[in-house]
Amino acid sequence: MSFTLHGLAVSSGIAIGRAHLVSHATLEVAHYKVREKAVPTEIERFETAVATVRTELEALRGEASLPGSPSELAAFVDIHAMILDDPLLSELPKDLIRERRCNAEWALVQQMELLVEQFEEIEDSYLRERKHDVVQVVERVLKALMGKARKVAKRGKDEDLIVVAHDLSPADTIQFKTLKIGGFVTDLGGATSHTAIVARSLAIPAVVGLHHARPLVREDDLVIVDGTRGVLIVEPDPRVLEEYRLRKSELELERSKLKRLKTARSATLDGEEVALYANIELPQDIEQVKEVGADGIGLFRTEFLFMNRADLPDENEQYEAYKAVAKAMAGRPVTIRTLDIGGDKNAGALAGTERQAPNPALGLRAIRYCLAEPQIFLTQLRAILRASHYGKIRLLIPMLAHASEIEQTLAMIEQAKAQLRETRHKFDENIKIGGMIEIPAAALALGPFVKRLQFLSLGTNDLIQYTLAIDRTDEAVAHLYDPLHPAILRLISQTIAAGARMDVPVAVCGEMAGDPTLTRLLIGMGLRQFSMHPSLILEVKQQVVMADAEQLTTKVGRLLRLDEPDKLREQVERLNA
Ligand code: PEP
Ligand code: MG
Repeated sequence: MSFTLHGLAVSSGIAIGRAHLVSHATLEVAHYKVREKAVPTEIERFETAVATVRTELEALRGEASLPGSPSELAAFVDIHAMILDDPLLSELPKDLIRERRCNAEWALVQQMELLVEQFEEIEDSYLRERKHDVVQVVERVLKALMGKARKVAKRGKDEDLIVVAHDLSPADTIQFKTLKIGGFVTDLGGATSHTAIVARSLAIPAVVGLHHARPLVREDDLVIVDGTRGVLIVEPDPRVLEEYRLRKSELELERSKLKRLKTARSATLDGEEVALYANIELPQDIEQVKEVGADGIGLFRTEFLFMNRADLPDENEQYEAYKAVAKAMAGRPVTIRTLDIGGDKNAGALAGTERQAPNPALGLRAIRYCLAEPQIFLTQLRAILRASHYGKIRLLIPMLAHASEIEQTLAMIEQAKAQLRETRHKFDENIKIGGMIEIPAAALALGPFVKRLQFLSLGTNDLIQYTLAIDRTDEAVAHLYDPLHPAILRLISQTIAAGARMDVPVAVCGEMAGDPTLTRLLIGMGLRQFSMHPSLILEVKQQVVMADAEQLTTKVGRLLRLDEPDKLREQVERLNA
């Protein structure tokens, strides 16, 4: 019987294939007594399973360090290896088997539950969330115990393999690369989960948050994953299947045609140049940036250098990372954003200095945190400044709202420069300093920004979160997250216009910049600098080269006077028609 499930679209594209079910650790495990004589064999069975998983993780660790592997994965595999070696999981189940004469699966799940309970009591949300990693590690051991090593199902020539899971770890997701997985769907997960991030960087269609896919779908069912619309279609009827096959091949054709745009000039039909920059998280991402011929880096989210590790990167480690990017971009602009920690982004090594904020998104985040921790900030500033000797680095400051914050930041940059002069380090004395406009107060009172800073970058992800008062990570209010809300469009267009009047360049580096359905709207608002995930650059370029900037300016000017959301939406759609 055919049915459709709706979830969150996290990685676009279409995959059609056979479902392969991946179990979850909380699956019911049998509980049975083993005879006294059989206890050593049961313990041996347990030890063999742990050893098998250790070997699996070592192999994954090897894959994670190969070029092109998503950069965060090595760290996740390390976390799983650490959990596996925790005596609570690798030793105590053996005591239970001995004392209670129970089977290994049951002993392991008892220990897992104890450990998960302990994690649930941890205040630090990053550490608390690691309970999912515990579950995932136990799941691996259970599979080894039950002899259910993951098998790749048989499939037809033109069929992809679609993984259907309750939840997936990033370490599981990396295997998809070598197994040639066509797509995946999960019941849990939000659009910002690490699994979703990995899916996007691997360019595999994926839908998460489907709630009931795992219990409803059967092994080998024919399924369609529409990662653009967030839909899973199970056992589609022949007409739907045909339509999706057609769309899939059209998409593939479009994608290969897009590659031709790599070297094309990024300019509108009437000759307006539009710079297309890339957003990166780690230096390794540069490879992908080069593949699409980006004009530079518009946003280097440096906080990722601080995550998934027990210590802080020191000045030299940071300097090497920033220098590597500057050199690789060979004179093209590299916009390095200073540490934007806090909110939903936590770094374990900063946990001691981070307070448990009652409302993290409104708390000591980003520049607020850096100004409260001057030594951490100065270390980063010195590292960025030193790297500026090797390329065209620009400094970008996140979450500014007050003129006093800009002034304090500029004073700290001067202090870092003075320290470097004293130690005779070379740096670019004229490094450009810019600010993110992502708090409505900043967009509404731009005076201090355009006077004191040399460029601005609109962080629309946070601008939307703070203007519409919705937590961008909360699935329950995701339907209210609306880039086309008249208030948002007004704030963006006012910022672009103020920048143009004062001759201060303005870019957009939030997700809106990478949405090809909004390219024309933003061009019509006067935007000439876009920054987005590298995989989106060519699609946006395609929109740029077909746009007429002058016509769009007139149309968008009219559209911005509308304050009825439906009419506004209709007019935006017309721009793309
Ligand atoms: C934004 O807020 O739009 C942005 C680009 O920064 P981040 O997503 O890292 O908060
Ligand atoms: Mg932001």
